[in-house]
Amino acid sequence: MTDIAARLIAWHRRHGRHDLPWQRNRSPYRVWVSEIMLQQTRVATVIPYFERFTDRFPDVAALAAASLDDVLGHWSGLGYYARARQLHRAAQRVLEHHGGVVPETFAELVALPGIGRSTAGAILALSRNVPLPVLDGNVKRVLTRHNGIEGWPGDRRVEALLWTLAGELVPADRAGAYTQAIMDLGATLCTRTRPLCSDCPVTQTCRARELGQQEQLPAKRPRRLLPEKHAVFAMLQNDAGEILLQRRPETGIWGGLWSFPECPAQTDVVDWAADQFDAGVEIVTRAPILRHTFTHFRLSIEPIHLRLRRAEHRIADRPAVQWWRPAEAASLGLAAPVRRLIEKHFPSEPS
Ligand code: SF4
Repeated sequence: MTDIAARLIAWHRRHGRHDLPWQRNRSPYRVWVSEIMLQQTRVATVIPYFERFTDRFPDVAALAAASLDDVLGHWSGLGYYARARQLHRAAQRVLEHHGGVVPETFAELVALPGIGRSTAGAILALSRNVPLPVLDGNVKRVLTRHNGIEGWPGDRRVEALLWTLAGELVPADRAGAYTQAIMDLGATLCTRTRPLCSDCPVTQTCRARELGQQEQLPAKRPRRLLPEKHAVFAMLQNDAGEILLQRRPETGIWGGLWSFPECPAQTDVVDWAADQFDAGVEIVTRAPILRHTFTHFRLSIEPIHLRLRRAEHRIADRPAVQWWRPAEAASLGLAAPVRRLIEKHFPSEPS
């Protein structure tokens, strides 16, 4: 074992986190769910979601048998919903092709939807002690700083170098303990801003610390301007107080989640609604613009509150377009801005 791995493991034994929910009753399934939730999301945010999710779906079979709506409902608020859809699909595949047992080989794991090289490594190292490297955001930060690596870690050349370094450090017999240790170091001491170098077990060999470059490394992604998009949300309400929601297609943003029907920009919303739903509507109010940033673009949402003009006008439910009482809608898989709009404009009546 390298000296660095030994120091990390010894530090983790005394100072690391040992009581996170996915460290209790540790199983490949629980590690898998936690690793997917922790992508781009902080531990403190993930904990309550993980507990609710694994209470409701305690194993692969329960997750595979659940409806996508149920799964998305338990993910609602965590963001990056493609993760939930892929986890659900992967569970169905594990049930179908592996008898409900999370695969034990790297090749079988990376063949599942949503599992990349780092996640497969983490599942096998943390739950089965298999000596495979992990390169999540925390590990990248530690390795970049410790080795003084310049260049953005998302760059292919830099990433390849990091994978090599990560692979060299994993001890053959203590992969689980080592992986947990380096991930924890990145999450608790070698943090993005103000790392606590004086408490760090590898401070004597850290190049960034030696050069005073902790804040400069890892290098930031080169800046690029995000394109702007615009959407009009038709928040249509009937005389029973119900709101009309539409399930979005599986692909594209907020795939499979429920949202307000979207009226094309530059189109008269009243004419559009009349045409789409064969119903006369009137505008109640134009709500303030809401902004939402995705990885690849910024979206400005123009919410317009509409009402059916005559009580006898009824829009028939279709599978992907349905009326919901606002209180019922809260339990659906909703895009975050849609949830905010419902809470603000259609507060549920006190029970
Ligand atoms: S010494 Fe500081 S910068 Fe280097 S690995 Fe430790 S915490 Fe990170």
